[in-house]
Parts: sequence; structure tokens; C-alpha cells
Amino acid sequence: MDFRCLFFCLIKPVEVEMTQKIVIIGNGMVGQYFLASLVASPAREQFDIITFCEEPRPAYDRVHLSSYFSGTSAEELSLVAPDFFSNHGIQIHLGDKALV
Ligand SMILES: Cc1cc2nc3c(=O)[nH]c(=O)nc-3n(C[C@H](O)[C@H](O)[C@H](O)COP(=O)(O)OP(=O)(O)OC[C@H]3O[C@@H](n4cnc5c(N)ncnc54)[C@H](O)[C@@H]3O)c2cc1C
Repeated sequence: MDFRCLFFCLIKPVEVEMTQKIVIIGNGMVGQYFLASLVASPAREQFDIITFCEEPRPAYDRVHLSSYFSGTSAEELSLVAPDFFSNHGIQIHLGDKALV
């Protein structure tokens, strides 16, 4: 047994992942803009991201909501690509109202 090797193993620093949880309540236009900005930022790596959305679907364009009645579909009004949350490792809780 090479004891120098054992000594090296014992003092080798352990790298610990240090992520913080960030919880975004509401996935409306502002919440989604915040998420898109966060995932585009180098700071993204520091966070586990969780978002709660009271509504049954993610963010949509409320400003043009009335165009739904003249034929614009829910998919066209959506502000979120279908795979946005899974691609960016974001936990989304749809239809789930956060109580504080
Ligand atoms: C028909 C219509 C037309 C509009 N036209 C214009 C316009 O021309 N110009 C303009 O500047 N603005 C317009 N607005 C206003 C604009 O839509 C709002 O300013 C904008 O939607 C605000 O975005 P937000 O993300 O802050 O809030 P919201 O879009 O209201 O999103 C908040 C989200 O958070 C969810 N939420 C809230 N509390 C909780 C909770 N406790 N747990 C989980 N989820 C929660 C809500 O259900 C919602 O989905 C219009 C709005 C409407 C309805």
C-alpha cells in the first residue's frame, strides 16, 4: 500500500454542488419573461427552478387574447415552446395555486 496515495485521497477537497431553489409564482407574461431571461443567463447554473401556475396552461399572450374568438388558437397564443420547461430542467406545476 502506498501511504502517500492514501494521504492524497484523504485531503482531496470534495466538490459539493451548491444550488439554491428559486420559486416563481405565476407563469404569466412577466413570469415567463423572467424564466427566459434566467435560462439565458450564466447565473442559471446556480438555481433549481420551480414555477407554479394556477392556470391549466403555461403563459399566453393576454394582450391578444380576444383574437381567440376570431380564430387564433391557444397554441398560437402560447408564449412558451412545448419543450421549454423540460429542455431547461424547470419544474412546472400547472393548475397548482401556490399558497403563501
Ligand atoms: C384582454 C386583455 C387585453 C390586454 N391588452 C393589453 C394591452 O394592449 N397592452 C398592455 O400593456 N397590457 C394589456 N393587458 C394587460 C396585460 O395582459 C397584463 O399587463 C399582463 O398580462 C401582466 O402580466 P403578468 O405576468 O404580470 O400577470 P398575468 O398575465 O396576470 O399572469 C399571472 C399568472 O400568475 C398566476 N398566478 C397568480 N397567483 C398565483 C398563485 N398564487 N399560484 C400560482 N399561479 C398564480 C395567474 O393565474 C396568471 O396565470 C391586457 C389584458 C387582457 C386580459
